[in-house]
Amino acid sequence: MSSYNSFETAKQQVIEAAKIIRLDNATLNLLLKPQREFAFTMPVRMDNGSVEIMEGYRIQYNTARGPAKGGIRFHPDETVDVIRALACWMTWKTAVVDLPLGGGKGGVICNPKVLSERELENISRAYIRAAADFIGTEKDIPAPDVYTNPQIMAWMMDEYETIVRKHSSGILTDKPLQIGGSEGRRDATSRGGVYSVLEACKYYNIPPKRFIVQGFGNAGQRVALLHSEILSEGKLVAVSDSSSALYNPNGMNVHELVRHKLQTGKIKGFKGAEEIDRDSALEIEADILYPSALENAINEFNAEKINSKIICELANGPTTPEADIILHQRGIKVLPDILASAGGVIVSYFEMVQDSSSFFWEEAGVNKALEIKIKKAFRSVINAQESNNVHPRLAAMIVGVARVAEACKIRGWV
Ligand code: GLU
Repeated sequence: MSSYNSFETAKQQVIEAAKIIRLDNATLNLLLKPQREFAFTMPVRMDNGSVEIMEGYRIQYNTARGPAKGGIRFHPDETVDVIRALACWMTWKTAVVDLPLGGGKGGVICNPKVLSERELENISRAYIRAAADFIGTEKDIPAPDVYTNPQIMAWMMDEYETIVRKHSSGILTDKPLQIGGSEGRRDATSRGGVYSVLEACKYYNIPPKRFIVQGFGNAGQRVALLHSEILSEGKLVAVSDSSSALYNPNGMNVHELVRHKLQTGKIKGFKGAEEIDRDSALEIEADILYPSALENAINEFNAEKINSKIICELANGPTTPEADIILHQRGIKVLPDILASAGGVIVSYFEMVQDSSSFFWEEAGVNKALEIKIKKAFRSVINAQESNNVHPRLAAMIVGVARVAEACKIRGWV
């Protein structure tokens, strides 16, 4: 388990942004606390007949701009403070890309790696039975996060509809296409990341040739495939997952690597690259580094050794504040999570819009609308960066916090 407290980090980032925009104390205090928190226990029947009492959470951090929005994570190391941090970051993420949504997050403390399909289904349904009163298309709309996926969303939606006795497909996003999901949603986080890299490479004049992917789950795999496809250049020179790390200076065959991962559950044993020490994957020389796993992967212990020009944060909170300072001093450009990983929630919003009208868009239309949103958000962040002379994360926070604060004020909350 990480020794960092991500919620302390998240609050620190709000305080820094608040100083620059001279936010009054009442608004700052409002934005430093979650609006609502739900903690519940869930009895879950296991395959051996026993019942485990699991802990679940849902946190609605701020809903001034719209209903809370954010994923549900199934993870053994989940803590309330991690969920608070993730819900807080979702608030700025939806604001930076200008969606009419607030921020939320949820989680269950469990280890999906040792659970069967049926046990996962039982947990998913139990979560919704506990949370049904405080989620809803006009209140709070969950989605997947780490170790949750469209199948889990399908079980959750089904349980919700069973409770409310009517179709309510917009209650969750990133569902399978057959039951109200959106084209392009599975790729959306990674696609949005690549679009932001495209903008950053133009702005900083850096060709996006060699890239590294840290973490090889859904986002890591999709970004490895999309980087070369969208940017029409790019070699995957290093990759890591929880089992090992691989290096090939001439670039790996990404399709084969993804096939190997899907077949074996690991990147270890892939023939098209040499195995290296897991930590050294981040130190390989490259143009772009995509951290795509968990929080705090880039910290004061490895920030000095990173050899990439741009870091595109597909994970939530992968860089600690200490590392941020080091990277900034070393001239490494960080595309912050609340911008670079916003593609997922952007297409989740498109999914909600499609569900509410029962009219579904073609994939090209989804991708185009996503590109427009990311480009516009990138511009707002660059404008804040240039006018305040700050690093990109602070610039993104300034945009997000200012928009949420404005909504709180217009509503008369502060
Ligand atoms: N879990 C994703 C995120 O952190 C997606 C959230 C959503 O689509 O609501 O951005």
